[in-house]
Amino acid sequence: MISNYGTKIGLEIHCQLTGLKSKLFCSCHCNYREYSPNENICPTCTGLPGTLPLLNQTAIEKAAMVCMAMNCTIPNNILFYRKNYFYLDLPKNFQLTQYNAHGISSIGVDGFLGYGQGEARIRRVQLEEDPGRLSYVKGSSGSLIDYNRAGVPLVEIVTEPDFHDPKDVRLFLNKLASIVEHLEVCDTSLEGAVRCDANISIGDSRRVEIKNVSSFGDVEKALKFEMTRQKAMLNYEMEIRGETRHWDEQRKITKQSRTKEEEQDYRYFHEPDIPSIQIDEDYLKELHSKMPELPDERKERFINYYKLTEHVSKVLIEHKDLADYFEESAKIYFAPKEISSIIVTDLMSFADDNSKKLGSTIRNIKMSPKQLAEIARMIKEGIVNRKTAKQLLYEAVVSGKLITSSENEANFRKIDDEGLILRSIENVFETESLAVLDAKKNPNVSNYLLGKVMELTKGRVDPGRALSLINKKLLEH
Ligand SMILES: [Zn+2]
Repeated sequence: MISNYGTKIGLEIHCQLTGLKSKLFCSCHCNYREYSPNENICPTCTGLPGTLPLLNQTAIEKAAMVCMAMNCTIPNNILFYRKNYFYLDLPKNFQLTQYNAHGISSIGVDGFLGYGQGEARIRRVQLEEDPGRLSYVKGSSGSLIDYNRAGVPLVEIVTEPDFHDPKDVRLFLNKLASIVEHLEVCDTSLEGAVRCDANISIGDSRRVEIKNVSSFGDVEKALKFEMTRQKAMLNYEMEIRGETRHWDEQRKITKQSRTKEEEQDYRYFHEPDIPSIQIDEDYLKELHSKMPELPDERKERFINYYKLTEHVSKVLIEHKDLADYFEESAKIYFAPKEISSIIVTDLMSFADDNSKKLGSTIRNIKMSPKQLAEIARMIKEGIVNRKTAKQLLYEAVVSGKLITSSENEANFRKIDDEGLILRSIENVFETESLAVLDAKKNPNVSNYLLGKVMELTKGRVDPGRALSLINKKLLEH
C-alpha cells in the first residue's frame, strides 16, 4: 500500500465583490441576481464596438483590502490585461483581468494566510471581471446565454500548493469566507458568489485540476476522492494524466471533462483603454485606517472582553452574521456566556434539523436578538429552566413571538416551591404504585418516576432536585 506520496494541493478561489453597487467597468448593477435574463447589461459590458471601460474605483479599494487581509504586497503600479479566448459567455472575446509581467503585477502578490494550525502562501490576488453564464434548457440539448453577470467584479485568489490534507483546505476556505464577510466585500451566502477550483498532485505525478465545485464541503470531498483515486492508480503503476476533472455532485466522484482542455495561449496584452493605476503609500495608509475588524482580532476580543472560550469564539466568528447577532443580543442584556451557549448549542441544533448552516440562515430566523437577550435574562434570573427556555426559543425561532407576558410567563415559570414539587411527587406515587414498589428494589426505576413527575409539571421543576426528593420519599414509603 502506498501511503507516503507527498500530496500537494493548491487553490484558485473566485470571489465576487457583491458589496459593490456597479460592475467593474460600467454602471450596470453589481447585484445581477435580481434581474430577468439580459436586463442588466449595457453596450460596455457586452463589448459593443466604440465603448470604453471606466474603472470602478471602489473595486480597487475593496480588492486592496482583501490583499491587506491576506498579507500581500500591493505594488505602486497596476495594470489591466486582455485575456483573449472565445467562449459563448464572453461577449467581448476577451476578459479584462490582471497579469504579472514586465515588473508589473496584479493588485496583490506574495501573501500568506493562517488557518487552524497551518498557514498557506498566497501567490497572487487579482481583480477581474466575471463572464456571463449559460443556462441549460431542461429537456433540450440547447442552452441560453444570460449576460447579466458579465463584468461583475471578482477577486481571484491563488495559493501556492501548500495544502497536504483536504481537511485543511476546508479550514482555509472557511477562514477566507469569514474574512471577506468581515470586510463586507462579499456575501458568501449568495449562490455562485464564491467558487473554488483546486489542483492536486501526488509525488512526482502530474497535476490534476478539479473544477465545477459549488460548496466548500464538496471541495473537501472532491479532493479526498481524487487522493484515493490517484493513490490507487499509483499502486497499480498506472500513469496519472494531467487533466481537468469535474466534480459530479450526485455521484460524489470526479470525472474527466468531456472537452479536452488544451493549454491555451491567451495572448495577454495590456488593455490600452485603461491607463495604469498608481497606488501610493498615502492611499494605502488611509485604506489601512478604514479596515474593519478582521476575524482574528474579533476572536481575541470575544475571548478577552466577553470571556468566551476559544472554541465558542471561533464558532461565532466563522460567520460574521452569527457574531453580529451574538453581539447585538449581548448589548441588550449582558449575559455573553448564556447567549453564546444558546447560539452554538440550541440554535445550531435547530439549524441542523433543517439541514442548513446556521451562519448563513441566522438573518432569516424570525427571533430577534432582543428576544434572545430576553430568554437569556429569564434563564439567568431563574424564571425558566433550560428545558422551558428551549421551548420558548423554538417558538420564537419559528413564529417570531416570545411568550413574556406575565400571565403566560407564570405557565412557564420554574417551580421552586418545595411543597408544590412534593405534591406532584405524591400524585405520581399514587398513580404509579407498582413502579414505586419496584423502585424500592431497583434504584433505576426512580428515573421512570422522575420522568412521570417531569411530565406532570411540564418540565418546570429542576430534575436533579426532583430526583433527590423522589429518593427521599421512597425511603419514607
Ligand atoms: Zn454594463
